[in-house]
Amino acid sequence: MRIETRLAARLKNVSPSTTLAITSKAKKLKAEGKDVVNFAAGEPDFDTPDFIKTAAIEAIDSGFTKYTPSTGTPELKQLISKKFKKDNDLDYQPEQIVVSCGAKHSIFNTLMVLVNPGDEVLIPSPYWVSYPEMVRLCEGTPRFIRTQEKDNFRVTPKELEKHISGKTKVFILNSPSNPTGSVYKLAELKEIARICAEKKVLVVSDEIYEKLIYGGLRHESIAGISEAIYNLCVTVNGMSKSYSMTGWRIGYLGAPKDIAEAISRLQDHSTSNPTSIAQKAAAAALEAPDDFSKKLCQEFQKRRDYCASRLKAIKKITFVPPQGAFYIFCDISDTGLDSNTFASRLLEERFVALIPGDGFGRDDYIRISFATGLDQIKKGMDRLEDWLNKL
Ligand code: PMP
Ligand code: GLU
Repeated sequence: MRIETRLAARLKNVSPSTTLAITSKAKKLKAEGKDVVNFAAGEPDFDTPDFIKTAAIEAIDSGFTKYTPSTGTPELKQLISKKFKKDNDLDYQPEQIVVSCGAKHSIFNTLMVLVNPGDEVLIPSPYWVSYPEMVRLCEGTPRFIRTQEKDNFRVTPKELEKHISGKTKVFILNSPSNPTGSVYKLAELKEIARICAEKKVLVVSDEIYEKLIYGGLRHESIAGISEAIYNLCVTVNGMSKSYSMTGWRIGYLGAPKDIAEAISRLQDHSTSNPTSIAQKAAAAALEAPDDFSKKLCQEFQKRRDYCASRLKAIKKITFVPPQGAFYIFCDISDTGLDSNTFASRLLEERFVALIPGDGFGRDDYIRISFATGLDQIKKGMDRLEDWLNKL
């Protein structure tokens, strides 16, 4: 069998994840003893809180190590239902909730049950690397809506409307955004909700960074805006970013019953339940007061401010200060380098790892993550500044 016919066609146009590839390259260099400053990380650098780990250890000790219902334990789904009400004022009953192996899995499952071959999925650009690839895996067509730095990389209602065609099935919204850190205002979401409801476009709202939001801004969930949009919306969230639980792989979604039920069938025949032990850990996290993510947010705000003050002093880079998440998306067009050359030279010449904007749809940008300690940030900024001055 010829090698090019051995693999299914659906994988042909799917690229590897740049974020995961560079993050593991940086970790590998560090393990080899290189003094790497890691601005590539897509995960909080804090350890998972002890009380969460203890719940997992107790789960193992008490033999909670078997299959659970495919969509998650009743206990965890009840807690997620309460969380949606408390934090987002959203009413999702346990049967509308599916717990999966990370928010990435929740989004993938959602697209799998919604997208038919040839359907178009609207994705604001810059975008998180995995959205277009997931759409391709579902044999749909990603259609990008290029956002502008002057709009803080938020889609304007006019642009959204312009991109909706007869083939548009889904719009992916990500606020706070990876990689730009932009946060949509309620008034903007209302307009987006009105347009999507009018044109019957389904919305996947990826709210994984909801707790990491700065300067007193408030996270708003689009599903809460009207009954019409609630019935078209899947709200995705997870434990990774708010509780430093990236490796535990617990994500979840709230959806209209028919969509949740379809995802449940998909999960029955693919992964079954996410790990029983991690579900116990997630339940402990959701049951506790929100102290950890508040502290995380305060710490990230300090780092964001420090990074912004340093980057402002660097002539060849411009950026919009992020309002949420833990990334700064920087315009590098004045350096004359494309994003991959910029990132690989910086890593090779100064051991600073960051992610080229190419994977996010903008080759004239790079992404700096401030999910690393202030001492590391200072060291990395010193190296970046010196390298750029000598470029
Ligand atoms: N959405 C966005 C925008 C992300 O940055 C991430 C981080 N990997 C995810 C979803 C998925 O997170 P996880 O699968 O770890 O829950
Ligand atoms: N979402 C993170 C990032 O953008 C983690 C890596 C990934 O899953 O893509 O870096």
